[in-house]
Parts: sequence; structure tokens; C-alpha cells
Amino acid sequence: MRAFDYHRPTSLEEAWQLRAGCPEARYIAGGTDLMVLMRAGAVRPPSVISLRGIEELRGIEVGEPTRIGAMTTIGEILEHRELGERHPVLHDAARPFGSVQVRNLASVGGNLCNASPCAGLPPALYVLDARVRVAGPEGDRVLPIEELFAAPGETCLIPGEVLTEVLLDPPPPGVRSRYLRRGRVRMDLAFVSVAVLIGLNGGRCARARVAAGAVAPRPLRLRAVEELLEGRALEPPLLAEARARVEQEISPITDVRASAGYRRHITGVLFQRAVESLLNGGGG
Ligand SMILES: Cc1cc2nc3c(=O)[nH]c(=O)nc-3n(C[C@H](O)[C@H](O)[C@H](O)COP(=O)(O)OP(=O)(O)OC[C@H]3O[C@@H](n4cnc5c(N)ncnc54)[C@H](O)[C@@H]3O)c2cc1C
Repeated sequence: MRAFDYHRPTSLEEAWQLRAGCPEARYIAGGTDLMVLMRAGAVRPPSVISLRGIEELRGIEVGEPTRIGAMTTIGEILEHRELGERHPVLHDAARPFGSVQVRNLASVGGNLCNASPCAGLPPALYVLDARVRVAGPEGDRVLPIEELFAAPGETCLIPGEVLTEVLLDPPPPGVRSRYLRRGRVRMDLAFVSVAVLIGLNGGRCARARVAAGAVAPRPLRLRAVEELLEGRALEPPLLAEARARVEQEISPITDVRASAGYRRHITGVLFQRAVESLLNGGGG
């Protein structure tokens, strides 16, 4: 691996200054994505700027809204009982993530800014209507999480900007949510992941959120499926129609993990299982 400088600023201002002084520098959080690429020689930054020493990027505060600092690790999400009670789908997504070692390093900000179509957290955050705050020398802005992802491996961040936190509103009363994923082996990126959130009112679906990962160039929110479900009783014929629409709305590819056809099929299966489990009192 090529030698590189390592900086550990203690404020965002210092991080931006370091970045401005070396435009090829890369921010590093847990390093579980970036170091893999650097070791393989796929990226060769002359310096890396660690975000670990920046206190304001840490911590989880449950409130209105809930704030999850970008440097929060997947392990810290799992350990946070109140967060898991409020947004169980986040714990669902964090539980199968990598290994204990990976979960102790991997950060929320890194999972989002790596912009992998198969990243674990985005589908769960999509169904929660999460927003992200990004900050740079010119100021900060809050955007819906879907707008963060530009293309595989690319975010809409302006060079130098840092993702600082994820924001979540309290869930509407009575909603239940579920996240399901499939990988080739236990510790592997998902080749399909699906998150579903449902709120029922008098036997009808008052709120539906459906999202999928690893089946398009970016994590996808399946709005056409949500529109089909909302306002209607979730009877088997409607669910079959919704499953068919899920399979239409995605554009999976064939790669080392799975074929396009298998991904399409499994996305429908996971969607159906998630909805049935929610209707039978599963999820949370
Ligand atoms: C063995 C193994 C298993 C894995 N399993 C999974 C899995 O099950 N699910 C899954 O989704 N991923 C998995 N991954 C991938 C990886 O662990 C995650 O994507 C992780 O969340 C990345 O976070 P990080 O803090 O390590 O990011 P880093 O590697 O430090 O950074 C990733 C990218 O994001 C940028 N970045 C990081 N933080 C910020 C920020 N706050 N603002 C702006 N840019 C930022 C960096 O510059 C870099 O480009 C696995 C990786 C390994 C090695």
C-alpha cells in the first residue's frame, strides 16, 4: 500500500482546512470500506483525514427529531435500547451487519457516504423518512436521505463536505416496520434487502413505506408500491399485485453475488414476508 499522511482534526473547521490544502485527501471514519480499497490499490489518497476526533459527529440523542451522529458505529446503534424501541427497523438492519469487529468500527456516515447500492442502512432509513445534515465551509444543509445518493459509489456531497448527522422524526402512532436481507453467506453484503413500514387504521393501510437495496444503482424507495397499498385493505390479492409491482420497479444486475433474475424474485419474496409478518404482529 502506498504511504499516506494521517491527520486527526478535532473540529470540522480543521477538517475542512486540511481538505482544502489537499483536494485528493479522503475523509476516513471506521475505514472498513476505505482501507479495503486502499489496500487493494483501487484508491491511493496522499493523505487521509480521520473524523474520529470530532466530538460533534458522535452520539445518539433520542428526541424530536432523533439525532444520530455520523461517527456512531453500527454497534452503538445496536446497543441503544431507546433507539431500537422507537425505530426497531434500524436494529433489524444493524443486527446482521458484518461481524462484531466490523460493527465496532463501521460508522453510519461511512455506510451512507460510501454510497454502495447494497449498503445495509439506507433501506431502513428510507422507510423512516430520514434526513441527513451535511456541512462544509460554506454552511450546512439538510436533505432527504434519498437525495444523498447520486450513483454507485457517489454522493451529492460537494468536495470537502462532511455528513454530520442523521435526523429521524418520531414514528407516527401504530406503525410497524421490518427489514429483511439475504446474503450468500452469513458475513456478506446483502444481494437483496427490503424494508417495509406499515400503519393500519380500521383495517386499511394508512401509511406504507417500502424500500429496497442492492437491486438498482442506488438504494430505492418504491413509491409506486406505497401508492398501491395506501388507503386499501391489505388482502391477499392486493399483496400479490404489490409484490408484482415491487418486482417491476427494481432494476437488478447480475454480478458475483446473484443473478438479476434471482435478485428480482427474492426481492418480491422478502417484500411479501415482511408485509405478512407485520400483519401477523411481527416487526415492531
Ligand atoms: C468484513 C466486512 C463486512 C461488511 N459487512 C457489511 C454489511 O453487512 N453491510 C454493509 O452495509 N456494509 C458492510 N461492510 C462495509 C462497511 O463496513 C460499511 O459500509 C461501513 O458502514 C463503512 O463505514 P466506515 O466508517 O468504515 O467508512 P469508511 O471506510 O471510513 O469510509 C467510507 C467512505 O465514506 C467517506 N466518509 C466516511 N464518513 C464520512 C462522513 N461523515 N462525511 C463524508 N464522507 C465520509 C469516506 O471518505 C469513504 O469514502 C462490510 C465491510 C467489511 C470489511
